[in-house]
Amino acid sequence: MALYRLVAVIKNPSDEDFLVVRQAPPPPLPEEEYRSFVDSDLWDLPSAPLNPLGGDRRSETVVEGAYSLLDDLDLEKFDVDSALDEVLSLSYLESPLEGRWSVWKFVKEPEFGPGPPVNVLFILGIVKSKEGILKESCQWLSKESALMLLQEVKASATRVGPFVFMGIVPGVAKATNVSATCTLHYQEYPPGITLVPMKSRTREPFHTTNLIVVVADDAINEQKDSSFVTCGNSLLVDPGCSSRFHPDLADLVAKLPRKLVVFVTHHHYDHVDGLSVIQKCNPDAVLLAHENTSRHIGRGEWSLCRTLISGGEKIQIGDHRFEVIFAPGHTDGHLALLHVSTNSLIVGDHCVGQGSAVLDVRAGGNLKDYFQTTYRFLDLSPHVLIPMHGRINLWPKRMLCGYLKHRRDRELSILNAIENGSKTLFDIISKSYADVDIKFWLPASSNVRIHVDHLAYQEKLPKDFSIQKFQASCGSHFLCRWSWTYLKSRGIVTVIGVIGAASFAIAFAVKEKFSG
Ligand SMILES: [Zn+2]
Repeated sequence: MALYRLVAVIKNPSDEDFLVVRQAPPPPLPEEEYRSFVDSDLWDLPSAPLNPLGGDRRSETVVEGAYSLLDDLDLEKFDVDSALDEVLSLSYLESPLEGRWSVWKFVKEPEFGPGPPVNVLFILGIVKSKEGILKESCQWLSKESALMLLQEVKASATRVGPFVFMGIVPGVAKATNVSATCTLHYQEYPPGITLVPMKSRTREPFHTTNLIVVVADDAINEQKDSSFVTCGNSLLVDPGCSSRFHPDLADLVAKLPRKLVVFVTHHHYDHVDGLSVIQKCNPDAVLLAHENTSRHIGRGEWSLCRTLISGGEKIQIGDHRFEVIFAPGHTDGHLALLHVSTNSLIVGDHCVGQGSAVLDVRAGGNLKDYFQTTYRFLDLSPHVLIPMHGRINLWPKRMLCGYLKHRRDRELSILNAIENGSKTLFDIISKSYADVDIKFWLPASSNVRIHVDHLAYQEKLPKDFSIQKFQASCGSHFLCRWSWTYLKSRGIVTVIGVIGAASFAIAFAVKEKFSG
């Protein structure tokens, strides 16, 4: 069951300029330490949720061409009146239109999850004139200006959002090659960066890993500039789809230019599951990975050309340039990728589309590194964060500060639990994660271990707290107590159930060595 959003393309007949609204940022964090991190202004088409009407109610607004949507959306059953009222209250105007609203475009969102997709209905309204009382948060924008703001983004400069790109300037040069190549359901934003959420064996609440596809407009035949670690005509980032979708991945790779670069942010299998398929389809492809990541990738997955990178390298994909950013924390070989012209940051698993990231204690995950990487990302003032699970984030600084605060708050609650006598992993987690469903305590246990290491590093642990005893409680002791508590909470305390949960916990622990 999808959700819907109404987006208004309000145009002026004389010069084709369209109306954009400065988007309201999320509420700032109250703490002083985050106040200096402010995202730049983001302008986009005015929009509002489009909700279903109850009973026999019908909207009064007439939208020409609504019948053309019937396969996807019966507009009569939706509250167009309220959505339009909200859209117009964001922008201006009393009776601004020349004629009626008409259907402009309908865009189905790919299934990023974890919630339902949000499909977008664009409707067009022509105003009588540009004169009128616009709200302070509105302005007219030309297509050319929008394109320039979308394609060349400087740090902390004004930004233009995805509805402008989807609704006003679709099919610009850099989009064309991917749309011709990719038959899977994808989303392109910013221009040139295509996200294909592919079903993967990933951690709940997500079910997909974003495969990132970049295809060059201007093909290059050989590397001329030695400042680039590699050059290619197409790029794939994190091919982590599960085996059921390997035929789709193979089909995509077969259509991409042969000079293919494959970049993996880290080694977890929901990011590398498709490597062997790519190599089989295109043995000329080059794999780029950090040494600590490459070590975990077996020859069965990738036996041919690998280039080890560590951060700071440049990659050229036709006219797209990327910079590799060393970004440890989630794992010790974790890398991010900056798309230079749009200042967009592909963040791997450092951030996810919803909720908080899990740090992998078994793969060198480390909180000190995680904080340092987060501040490194803040310094870049990215236009957008592109995680590998879930939707893109248009408020990067707010999101990154939210992650810092979340980890600090969690660390404080863990320290409180320890100061109040908790000595084992289970006791600490049952106090500091009391507000979280027990089923998530298992993945959270990795974060708690990392927090305790970080508290030890900062010499904040009480003198009577034994790290050795804590570490001894992290294996079967934790799994048994968690299994028992989980089953009790679900009211299924039977011998068979306990054995089943313990087996699940052990299987999870084994899986954890490679996943996340
Ligand atoms: Zn991961």
